[in-house]
Amino acid sequence: MEQRCPRCSREKPPAAGRCACGWDFAAGRLTGQAAVAEASALSAEAWASWICPVVAWGSQAVLNLTLRGVPGMGPVWLLAGVIQLALIVAGLYLGGKILSLGRDAVPKSARRAAIVGVALSGGTILLIVAVAVASSL
Ligand SMILES: [Zn+2]
Repeated sequence: MEQRCPRCSREKPPAAGRCACGWDFAAGRLTGQAAVAEASALSAEAWASWICPVVAWGSQAVLNLTLRGVPGMGPVWLLAGVIQLALIVAGLYLGGKILSLGRDAVPKSARRAAIVGVALSGGTILLIVAVAVASSL
């Protein structure tokens, strides 16, 4: 009977120990170079998941220090707000994606980074909503 790779869905002869994508049928996981490459891609995404909201907060702090009270800067604030929101959504998306992969699929350091990313991004969104609600009361 043919075996189907659970990762890339290629059909492989029953005797094949490994798929071309790097899946090891006996071990039930990625091995070798493919495993290293996937781990580093996941780590990069996990890193980006907390860097994105940090950049958003940092840029807001810099703008507050430099542009607050300067007239005619409305479009700059608006543009910055849109970019910051995109960064925060990206952080939440990347962190959520890593955490949804499950405990065994992700290196521990990447999982921790993703938790920080989701907490920062999600916390920021909650803060924005809370401030918006508070100021509309
Ligand atoms: Zn495969």
